[in-house]
Amino acid sequence: MTDLAQHIQQTPLIDTHEHLLSERKYVEAGPDVLADLFDNYILADLITAGATQGAVSALVDSSNPDLATRWNAVKDFWIHCQFTGYGEAVRLTAQNVYNMDEITLAGIEASMEINRQRRQPGERLRILRDEGNLDHVQIDDFEWACLPDGSGVDFFLYDLSWVNFCNANFNVVQLHAETGYEVHDLNSLQIAMASLFAKYGPNAIAVKSQHAYERTLLWRERTASDVAPVLDRYLRGVTLTVEEQLCLGDWCLSRGVELAIEHNLPFKIHTGYYAGNNRMPVERIKPGHLCGLLERYPDARFVLMHIAYPYDPELAAIAKHYRNVYVDLCWAWSIDPYTTSHFVRRFIHTVPINKLFIFGGDTQWASSSVAYAAQSRRWLIRSLQAEINDGLLTEAQAIKLATRLMSDNQQDCFDIQGRRTHLRSILASQSS
Ligand SMILES: [Zn+2]
Repeated sequence: MTDLAQHIQQTPLIDTHEHLLSERKYVEAGPDVLADLFDNYILADLITAGATQGAVSALVDSSNPDLATRWNAVKDFWIHCQFTGYGEAVRLTAQNVYNMDEITLAGIEASMEINRQRRQPGERLRILRDEGNLDHVQIDDFEWACLPDGSGVDFFLYDLSWVNFCNANFNVVQLHAETGYEVHDLNSLQIAMASLFAKYGPNAIAVKSQHAYERTLLWRERTASDVAPVLDRYLRGVTLTVEEQLCLGDWCLSRGVELAIEHNLPFKIHTGYYAGNNRMPVERIKPGHLCGLLERYPDARFVLMHIAYPYDPELAAIAKHYRNVYVDLCWAWSIDPYTTSHFVRRFIHTVPINKLFIFGGDTQWASSSVAYAAQSRRWLIRSLQAEINDGLLTEAQAIKLATRLMSDNQQDCFDIQGRRTHLRSILASQSS
């Protein structure tokens, strides 16, 4: 092993994006062997290859003990997906966790005891921290609430979700329950939003929105006089037109960005590729749609996710130009490892290197996060080694760069220590 490879394997990696399910869900209704292997992005590739939705749903249904039927319905399609980025992560879990070089029914059945041991209380944290060598994970659980997580208060940090505001489908009853404020106009909505941030902002590691799944990323400044009648219709239960949703959503996004600045929180935005199948209008997911927003809020820290695939050159140009933009490679290595490798090499020679975060698995189970982390390390080694081989970096420079991408940049952008100290103090005051 080279010094570079050894360094990347040994350096704790900051994981800036996951959707990990809770310790309780993991222990009580967590993944059996088949779900541990396949309940992640590979499901979309299986469907693209020709598997049915029913077969794929059954494959990851851990409550169904019929392993043979579940496996046999997808195994011919797995052959076609095994070398994609998603497939690579499945093979890493099969090899590293379940000692299977090839996935077979006999191997799956023989792995049940290993799986049972991995589902014990506390194992989820151990797997991520010790097997994954992760420093901590940042979780989007799609909620406003960011509470200290007793299963690892220093390790599991949470994003404050803003997606329902950006999509103009927020729940005013729940907002009232969380904040005590009843929303009847723009002013009271803004007060309730500020109250939500006052309550959860100090606990959160970032604000997050993936509204690109439901609407265009194109943002426009909206005036109160434009938005007020739309909000009024929304509160009366009228179904909004697409243009009205964009109007209210844009206004809400602006207020979220302002509150994120006030609370020293980076704002993460999904750009580019969609999870799933058969519903991706590529025009509306371009990162360039956000330029108006980036320009309007120079003091925000925007984290643009997933290299905006397939608009990665556009994102590199944006990151080079706007000083308030950071680029997060979460999910990118597994979508398209070659493109992401080229992206990193191009980025090194195009954009100041303090603006890039190297990893987020974007998954719900610990074994998948660990496999995606191993994949990122493997491809980062390959990318930086290619830089050395081409005479563009010395090994010493590549090693320093690796630390910066894996950890230093995230430490500089997110208030990690501050949030950890705060969460620990909350937990201590609850138990005393
Ligand atoms: Zn995600």
